[in-house]
Amino acid sequence: MEVSFRKEAESLRLGNGDTFHGEGIVAITKALLQSGVAYVGGYQGAPVSHLLDVLVQSKPYLAELGVHVEACANEAAAAAMLGASIHYPLRGAVTWKSIVGTNVAADALSNLSSPGVVGGVLIVVGEDYGEGASVIQERTHAYALKSTLVLLDPRPDLARMTQIVEDGFAVSEASNMPAVLQLRIRACHLRGSFKCKDNIAPAISSQRLLDNPAAFDYSRLAHPPVTFGQEKRKSAERIPAARRFIHEHRLNELFAGARSDIGVIVQGGLYNSLIGALAQLGLADAFGASEIAILVLNVTYPLVPDEIRDFCLGKRSVLIVEEGQPEFIEQEILATLRRLDVQTRIHGKDVLTMAGEYTVEVIARGVVEFLAREAVDIPVDRGIAWLAETAARRAAVSEALGDALPARPPSFCVGCPERPVFAALKLAQKSIGPVHIAGDIGCHAFATFEPFSMGHSILGYGMSLASRAGVSPVMPRRALAVMGDGGFWHNGLLTGVQSALFNGGDAVLLIMKNGYTSATGTQDIISTPDDAHKADAMDKHESLVGRNRTIEDTLKGIGVKWLRTVGSYRVDDMRRTLIDAFTTDFPGLKVIIAEGECELERSRRVKPWRAKLRKAGKRLVRVKYGVDEDTCSGDHSCIRLSGCPTLSLKTSSDPLRVDPVVTVLDGCVGCGLCGENAHAATLCPSFYRGEVIENPNWRDRFAARARSAVRSLFHHA
Ligand code: SF4
Ligand code: SF4
Repeated sequence: MEVSFRKEAESLRLGNGDTFHGEGIVAITKALLQSGVAYVGGYQGAPVSHLLDVLVQSKPYLAELGVHVEACANEAAAAAMLGASIHYPLRGAVTWKSIVGTNVAADALSNLSSPGVVGGVLIVVGEDYGEGASVIQERTHAYALKSTLVLLDPRPDLARMTQIVEDGFAVSEASNMPAVLQLRIRACHLRGSFKCKDNIAPAISSQRLLDNPAAFDYSRLAHPPVTFGQEKRKSAERIPAARRFIHEHRLNELFAGARSDIGVIVQGGLYNSLIGALAQLGLADAFGASEIAILVLNVTYPLVPDEIRDFCLGKRSVLIVEEGQPEFIEQEILATLRRLDVQTRIHGKDVLTMAGEYTVEVIARGVVEFLAREAVDIPVDRGIAWLAETAARRAAVSEALGDALPARPPSFCVGCPERPVFAALKLAQKSIGPVHIAGDIGCHAFATFEPFSMGHSILGYGMSLASRAGVSPVMPRRALAVMGDGGFWHNGLLTGVQSALFNGGDAVLLIMKNGYTSATGTQDIISTPDDAHKADAMDKHESLVGRNRTIEDTLKGIGVKWLRTVGSYRVDDMRRTLIDAFTTDFPGLKVIIAEGECELERSRRVKPWRAKLRKAGKRLVRVKYGVDEDTCSGDHSCIRLSGCPTLSLKTSSDPLRVDPVVTVLDGCVGCGLCGENAHAATLCPSFYRGEVIENPNWRDRFAARARSAVRSLFHHA
């Protein structure tokens, strides 16, 4: 990984009384060290990638403390790592993106939570829900309920969030329940400050070893018959212990308001948005002083019935602000109050939307509706006016834009090695006909957008090959599965390749070997070329292609017989290889590896190297493509075939041409796809390849003078 987290890593060293300034997720990382965590693992994914990235780059410092850090192969591996806390008083933390990561980890989580833990366990999940989310919209809450995990959802405030990390370990130890710390996207990226404490070197660690393994104890295995007793202990001992700790240590917060007849119970993570909504209605100030009493649930599972009763008693009505569906908290509060015979009316999903992110605007609508039903003496005109104004502004913007601005779906980076592969796939299908394409998670999923619009399904990370198993038998042509190298190592090798080989699957697997898990922040994987290869490639002005063959060797080792590696930018070779894979007589699994380094990571890697050469006055060449507008036929098929954002249109300088011609914008990184496409698809010969030379040598100057002289000759002829 070439992104540097040097500044964030420095903030991990802050000591007692120092002030941390920065992002929420880095503050959480610092809080782990302040809590005496002994081991940390996880699988990267927005919005919690930074946690692992910063720790991986801080390994030397963590080794001094005795903290072990592991970049796990997937979330299941991370969850299984927490098994260390079943027997040993070790505090462990892992992280991943939820809900998808929690799904992958589910098996290990069940087997962890059944015996329970003696060392505190904290699972930091990025709750990728709402605006800006990139996964299926489901709630982690369901896992907390089914596996009996403490679920923390802190008020977005760095001091509160870091305190809840310490509390999370402590409640886990007090109850033997693993704890999940759920952080929404906005909480992860929230910026602020908090007063630090010294980091704590764990009492048992890689620096301070145990004398011996724990004695054999059958009761700590997730295995019948002890699982029956474990299930009973969850409700008889662990949940009550967790409730006691939550109540005694005041993990939930009560903010009193002037009104005693109504109140709001809110998930901690939504507190800032609630205050924003109340402020718009004139019921709170920007610092959180609210007219209405608020109970903030920094722990959303288990709820403490006494706290719910005490808050609701004497109130006519309470609004539950709970994001997502189903309304687990609302249902539990309703049941709790009914059992305790408390008659407070409860509102929630009847006035708030069932699904979707609870933005300030959404919450404000719900509060207005709640007040209209339960507190008619509170004027809501101001709120109604604000909501109407917001809606009118949105409608006006939408009308003003009309169709003027086209939709801008996300796309591959300029120069991405995966774009050419889909251009080749488009051309191959012109020869053989349409094929079923099983898509996957990763940058290659950008091919689902224009101009490719490819992919019939996405069933999970590394699942593409497995997901075509039921499709292949009913297709006239072989089905294609597309997978990234990240997905291959995460799950695809076993779930897809092994299964296809075992079942004699007659399919084509296309692996995008770009060298990193690019979509999650270009983290290294086992097939990333090492630093020595990267340095050598730069010295020799070569690409990294062919320098790491772990994927090829693994596939051969497991029994793949039909295997081809093709450079990603070689469109015609890729087109022919695809056709070969779809038409060969070979009956088993056919694997094509498209190799080309992630352009984003390549440019980060090469940038400092080029800057060094520039400073030293060394010759530097930058390739750039261009279009000769006199030759451009104007059918724009190059744009439809490539989709590169730097391929654009301009008005022709020829007044007799009415249609726009293609042009290449300055962002072109000279990946060569334009030339390759022109050749493979026999497009018009309008593309030319240019070289921008910095610090030219005498040969360059001589060649430039000669070219200029020839040009002027033609000009005068
Ligand atoms: S991050 Fe890398 S692999 Fe992903 S779209 Fe950009 S260049 Fe392509
Ligand atoms: S060569 Fe073509 S595809 Fe490649 S970066 Fe330049 S304009 Fe984009």
